[in-house]
Amino acid sequence: MKWFGTQHSGAPGTRSENPPEQKPRAKLRIGIPKILNVWTTHQFWLGFFGALGVPNSRVIFSQDTTEEQGKTHGKGRGTVDCCYPVKCGAGHYGELTFGQKRDIDILFSPMILSLHSFLGGHVVDSLSCPRVAAGPENIKAGFLREKDVFAERGIRYVSPLVSLGEPDLVPRQLFESLEDALPGLTLAETTAAVDVGFRTLQRFDEEMRGRSREVLKWCAGNDRPCVLVLARPYHMDSGIGHEIEADLQAYGYPILWAQYFPLDDGLMDWIFGPDIEAGHIKSALDIHDVWPSSYSANTNEILWGAKVAARVPWITCAIRLTSYECGMDQPTFTPVQQIVERSGTLFFSFQELDSTKAGGSVKIRVETIAHYLERSSSRIIAEKKAALPALAGGTGGQALP
Ligand code: SF4
Repeated sequence: MKWFGTQHSGAPGTRSENPPEQKPRAKLRIGIPKILNVWTTHQFWLGFFGALGVPNSRVIFSQDTTEEQGKTHGKGRGTVDCCYPVKCGAGHYGELTFGQKRDIDILFSPMILSLHSFLGGHVVDSLSCPRVAAGPENIKAGFLREKDVFAERGIRYVSPLVSLGEPDLVPRQLFESLEDALPGLTLAETTAAVDVGFRTLQRFDEEMRGRSREVLKWCAGNDRPCVLVLARPYHMDSGIGHEIEADLQAYGYPILWAQYFPLDDGLMDWIFGPDIEAGHIKSALDIHDVWPSSYSANTNEILWGAKVAARVPWITCAIRLTSYECGMDQPTFTPVQQIVERSGTLFFSFQELDSTKAGGSVKIRVETIAHYLERSSSRIIAEKKAALPALAGGTGGQALP
């Protein structure tokens, strides 16, 4: 079976009869819309294309989402989708297609079917939201409606279906989609490049976890509170998550994201050891106690993050970000809130994020969160510490395991 392949235009899997003239790989410019699950996989793509001879400087990601981007580059190309994280893709495609000083040769927008989640092996599956996976097909339609905009501008549109959660499938998926676009590409070369991609992604994730650990260590050493964000990867986009966590950080509360929470064995044993010993879970990354239907990677990570927020003493508050009408998030609202609040940890959610930032109301809510953090954090830290095995440390500060 041939996966959705290299596409210059038209339906998935079709190839242009007049493909653009091929340049050497080192001269190609590849545009990648910074949308959806690209937010947590961008390093895979940089490693992958770098290993195939396309310099990182020639892989161009679109900017964060803005209204201006949508108006300037995506106007009239909107898609029928209630999800803003998909709808805003028209602005990203348009920015890469029309808004570059030097034109791109390939617009590469992967349909990511599954993710290489850190919870893989501990959950049922690590699939993407179906709307996320199919998002590129949806967005592309707005650029083919009247005429093939990509063909007109000499851009090759490549949108492979890719199962990052099943690494053995990835080389063939990417080879079949890129063999016409990258001169001389072989399956063996693609396989080696996929390996580099995964290793690059792993290095980046480890670096992010290391930074999170430094934050947590500082909080433990100083008995200071921090805030954990429970959200989907694209809520890191300042135009989708509206930088709510940054507004909170401005009040002096360090921010951690569940996706990049440190996974060191000692820390995991300390946090989840009592639950494992009691037989509630099999491992620190097991979430079947709270979310048996663990098929969706980003949903799973949010549920796991809620368990972390409930246990780690210095996380005195979790904030939940959700986009307007998110069908994937709705069933999780109650469990996530209950997991966090039953531990005494503060919980606040922003459930209807859309294109515009409700600046005034966000400001008031952030002030409210900061007020509760100031008032309750010391008590929450003390109560949560008492619920876990004792740690080494002097009076006050603690040495993180
Ligand atoms: S907002 Fe929810 S339903 Fe829409 S694409 Fe994102 S995860 Fe899927």
